[in-house]
Amino acid sequence: MSKVSPSATLKLTAKAKEMKSQGSPVISFAAGEPDFDTPQTIKDEAVRSLGAGFTKYTPTSGIPELRQAVCRKFEEDQGLKYAPENVVISCGAKHSLYNLMQVLCNPGDEVIIPAPYWVSYPEMVYLAGGAPVFVETSQSEKFRLTAARLEKAITPKSKALILNSPSNPTGGILEAEDLKRLGEVILKKNLIVISDEIYEYYIYGGLRHVSIATLGEELKARTFIVNGASKSYSMTGLRIGYLAGDAEVVKKIGILQDHSTSNPVSISQKMAVAALGLPKSYRTEVRDKFEKRNRLMVGLLSTIKGFKPFTPGGAFYVFCDISGTGMGSEPLCERLLDEVHVAVIPGRSFGSDRHLRFSFACSEKDIEEGLGRVAEWSKRNIKG
Ligand SMILES: *Cc1c(COP(=O)(O)O)cnc(C)c1O
Repeated sequence: MSKVSPSATLKLTAKAKEMKSQGSPVISFAAGEPDFDTPQTIKDEAVRSLGAGFTKYTPTSGIPELRQAVCRKFEEDQGLKYAPENVVISCGAKHSLYNLMQVLCNPGDEVIIPAPYWVSYPEMVYLAGGAPVFVETSQSEKFRLTAARLEKAITPKSKALILNSPSNPTGGILEAEDLKRLGEVILKKNLIVISDEIYEYYIYGGLRHVSIATLGEELKARTFIVNGASKSYSMTGLRIGYLAGDAEVVKKIGILQDHSTSNPVSISQKMAVAALGLPKSYRTEVRDKFEKRNRLMVGLLSTIKGFKPFTPGGAFYVFCDISGTGMGSEPLCERLLDEVHVAVIPGRSFGSDRHLRFSFACSEKDIEEGLGRVAEWSKRNIKG
């Protein structure tokens, strides 16, 4: 625990919530979850399975019905063939990632993490006794990890590489060509790939999500895809995540769950089955709403003095360069919250102090009002 930090993100959101409850007109761009309500079909399934008494222990690695539904999902969405023994259901994708790290890492094993990164990756590696190794990506390169930089970061201790496309916090995506080049290095250097694809359905500009596991059997065999119901179906509190990959490792994750959490919540699993059965139109509708907000937010941010937003290819965040303000990300976020009641997450928690993360999981009205306040603030306070 001595190497693990508390989440700075949570500290700021707690302060924003407290201010709001005391009556301050806080507008929050801090959300890490969709603002849409959980679809009714999913809620109905909760009531139905509860009524039917589906309230007891289930198999630790997930009910067969859900593991099969996950296999079907991989086949339909990505043409990937997995058997139920390649799939384990966990209490959220975060739990899947945590367990995978516990199973994969020996003391001192290095796990390569492209930066900026999701806050929990490095801490999960530390908690498994491993060592995170960061590889920089930049806004001018669309936050894409390049094969050359990856290769440079590899040492005899390198065990795995984490990919997160679309990315939280940057919104960057990796396209087939990028993945192909990375794949060559991965195969040459014998790395394991942990591919966090939780934002797969939120991808913009007519692009399509590509998983590295679809680029051939050799890459698929060394990739673990992590995904879940949280972001795709507005089910964050219901805690269903899943992972697919090598059956031996999957089995070990099941054993770890046997002795720690046991099964994910019984009725949440039934709800996830219902979610995976929703018509595809649901995701495209949500995606289109996010895409509209994405354009609105990037448009407004790019007019603000000192701010240079990156147009995200996916997820629901705008990662915005604020080096033009001459301030660090934490003091800037504190001032925005204190002086104009706008909550934003400092990039420092994601490994870049020159950025802020604005979430567009909020209404268009909030985007207009909140960014209007930031624009006014910056006119008054940013010189040059
Ligand atoms: C939200 C998120 C997760 C985990 O979500 P769960 O609710 O635990 O399923 C994993 N990875 C990234 C990048 C996320 O943003």
